Amino acid sequence: MPPFRVIIVGGSVAGLTLSNMLEAYGIDFAVLEKHEDIAPRLGAGYAMMPYGARILDQLGCYHALEKLSSPVNSVSGFDERGKRCLHLSQLGAWMESSFGYKMRFLERRQITQVLYDNLRDKSKIHTSCEALEICSTDTGVEVETNGQVFRGDVVVGADGVHSPVRQEMERLALADGNGELFRNEDGGY
Ligand SMILES: Cc1cc2nc3c(=O)[nH]c(=O)nc-3n(C[C@H](O)[C@H](O)[C@H](O)COP(=O)(O)OP(=O)(O)OC[C@H]3O[C@@H](n4cnc5c(N)ncnc54)[C@H](O)[C@@H]3O)c2cc1C
Repeated sequence: MPPFRVIIVGGSVAGLTLSNMLEAYGIDFAVLEKHEDIAPRLGAGYAMMPYGARILDQLGCYHALEKLSSPVNSVSGFDERGKRCLHLSQLGAWMESSFGYKMRFLERRQITQVLYDNLRDKSKIHTSCEALEICSTDTGVEVETNGQVFRGDVVVGADGVHSPVRQEMERLALADGNGELFRNEDGGY
């Protein structure tokens, strides 16, 4: 019997973080990312908060990210007339002493690059690979892409806010008569 395998759709922050976790536990996986580059110049600045930093630290990525990012040491707020109405001069020191990490800013592509670099087996990352359709089979799941079919035991949608995986889940649920699972509060789908 083949080993348990997770198919992850989306090779950004969520997908690559999960990949690092699965690799650490020796669980087989494949990442399908539609972009040809794992760290495209997309997205804006990223505020890495202590709770995220702790996970990235456990995965062995924090020190590389610390070097690439800028700490937030103090914060000021201004009212509509431009008058300073808030100033937290010790925010960075307070966060570090309370949670172990400061808030830090960096680019999205820097996080994905560090997460990718930290993976030992890069052959599990498939770029230019867009998930198009998901089928449930007797033995697991199949994900059809623009080139090949990936087979595994579960599919994880790490494919962003407009998640095509979620749309596929909805399609499959409706076909199975379980559309209620996806019904909105207003009664629509
Ligand atoms: C202006 C702006 C500022 C933000 N600032 C912050 C911040 O400071 N801190 C913070 O934590 N978050 C911030 N966010 C939110 C941030 O973008 C998300 O937290 C983060 O990118 C989510 O990561 P993700 O991996 O879930 O999804 P995404 O980064 O959206 O990645 C989804 C991935 O899935 C891939 N994909 C999609 N469909 C398919 C498919 N069919 N097949 C294969 N691959 C597919 C995409 O190419 C992409 O790589 C900000 C967002 C915006 C827009």
